Amino acid sequence: MPTCLYCRATKDSTLFNREHVVPESFGRFRGNFVLKNVICRDCNDYFGRTLDLKLARETVEGLDRYKIGAKSPAQGTRFGLSDTLTARISDGGFHHGARVFWGPSSDQSRLVLLPFPQYGVSDGRETTWFTADALPRREGLSRHGFDLEREITVKPFGIDEDAARAQLGSLGYNTSLERVGETTEGSEINIRLNGSIDRTLRRAVAKIAYNYLAFQYQRIATMEQFTVLRRYVRYDEFLGPEPVTLSNGPLIAGTTPEKAPMAHVVAVENNGDQILGHVTLFFHFRYLVVLADGGFLIKPTMVNQGHIFNADTLEIYQLTSDARRGRPLTPPD
Ligand SMILES: [Zn+2]
Repeated sequence: MPTCLYCRATKDSTLFNREHVVPESFGRFRGNFVLKNVICRDCNDYFGRTLDLKLARETVEGLDRYKIGAKSPAQGTRFGLSDTLTARISDGGFHHGARVFWGPSSDQSRLVLLPFPQYGVSDGRETTWFTADALPRREGLSRHGFDLEREITVKPFGIDEDAARAQLGSLGYNTSLERVGETTEGSEINIRLNGSIDRTLRRAVAKIAYNYLAFQYQRIATMEQFTVLRRYVRYDEFLGPEPVTLSNGPLIAGTTPEKAPMAHVVAVENNGDQILGHVTLFFHFRYLVVLADGGFLIKPTMVNQGHIFNADTLEIYQLTSDARRGRPLTPPD
């Protein structure tokens, strides 16, 4: 009977599920890397509804899935409403600083930017944006740093004009409103993204690297030197320093954020006594994962492997190793 890579329970093989190394929400690749009889159904279900879901729905990487065309938004698709991904207009114009999110266009063919119901309040200096349900009464604005001796202007955004007048009147504002600008669907707006990478996202990335190790080097991946990483991913246990950090520099020679392919890279390598994983999704961030931090009787020098997952062509290519040049992985010719 197989033993689960994560919870280490030995169960009948009917209690195991297939697990994709790179979650299928990031592409259905030809010859995809699938772990069979490696991860039990309990762990697979847990990952699906926690780590994988958050990685797909609350990250800038998840948002990029809609650029590859394979993914159309559903009615309830929303990006930019979570703690880990927010967006504000950053064009220096009328709506500068207003918060926006992505939702489906009216024909649901693509994601478009949509405004939050909110008000931009100014005393002639900077504009502060309040969501509609958090707008203070006019006389309470001084607590937010406004000078009530000056003229207060309010610009509603994402709110019907009549509804805005009614709400502003009830909160003590002069309702001769400034004109409301329109944000048309699909228009080009500069957006400032504010992303944060929380523990759940780090664990989701660590799982990709560890799944990849298990796919390439199954026997090594089951060793006890990976217990810390395993329990971090599966149980959110934190037994040592944070194993997932962001790393600078290109993972593949010649790639920059501006010239990045629509692709993911997953690689593992030995670094003396450590086993390291490298993950990037759509080349947004380069994550470095410490999969095992020493404790090997024999140094695992054979671990050195990487693949690029092209999200345009849905092909997977092996990266070649060229350690002599100090760059362990380079793309295929
Ligand atoms: Zn399990």
